[in-house]
Amino acid sequence: MSIKENYNEIKSRLPENVELVAVSKTHPVSAIQEVYDLGQKVFGENKVQELSEKQPLLPKDIKWHLIGHLQTNKVKYIAEFIDTIQSADSEKLLNEINKEAGKYNRKIKVLLQVKIAEEESKFGLDISEAKILFEKFTNGEFPNINITGLMGMATFTDDEQQIRKEFSVLKNLFDDLNHTHKLETLSMGMSDDFPIAIECGANSVRVGSAIFGKRAYSK
Ligand SMILES: *Cc1c(COP(=O)(O)O)cnc(C)c1O
Repeated sequence: MSIKENYNEIKSRLPENVELVAVSKTHPVSAIQEVYDLGQKVFGENKVQELSEKQPLLPKDIKWHLIGHLQTNKVKYIAEFIDTIQSADSEKLLNEINKEAGKYNRKIKVLLQVKIAEEESKFGLDISEAKILFEKFTNGEFPNINITGLMGMATFTDDEQQIRKEFSVLKNLFDDLNHTHKLETLSMGMSDDFPIAIECGANSVRVGSAIFGKRAYSK
């Protein structure tokens, strides 16, 4: 299938209230432009260097989401233009994003990345850490950050029950935090598991290979 067919197919499977983040990592600017021309405005990249190379070559109204692990010393390269950092996973990083956003007089949207997968390799906060950081945010500690939601990745497995269980943990935390301070975004689900994520309450999904095709190298 072509990129256009893939994109239209994915769009047709998403309920209206679910945002699509088109994950364009490893794919060329021409492919991103093609999807943009079909009406897509929100794109996700996982590496600062790749993102900062592509961003100047593409339309300025694209909302860029950083979805990969972010080192504090690299925040400065994206602070001027990034729409949302989905992969905030430490207080040190929140402090740095807050500081760099302040230099541009802006508020950067942030999702707290929570570790829900069994796999050891995945980045993310524990539930208790996420609660503490969120409380600091609601107490006004990061004035140039807006924590608008949570992001999580399920274990890479065929076991649908396992995936469902992990997504539900994040949905529960989302509901819990949402009582104290209104949240907008629950980002869960990728090409292989986004239908399950939506059933579990996701209102934002991050879909790459199902739109752009397989990546040349795995990440
Ligand atoms: C690569 C990536 C995705 C998209 O993965 P696909 O399986 O290609 O849809 C989603 N989220 C994160 C954090 C990623 O790194």
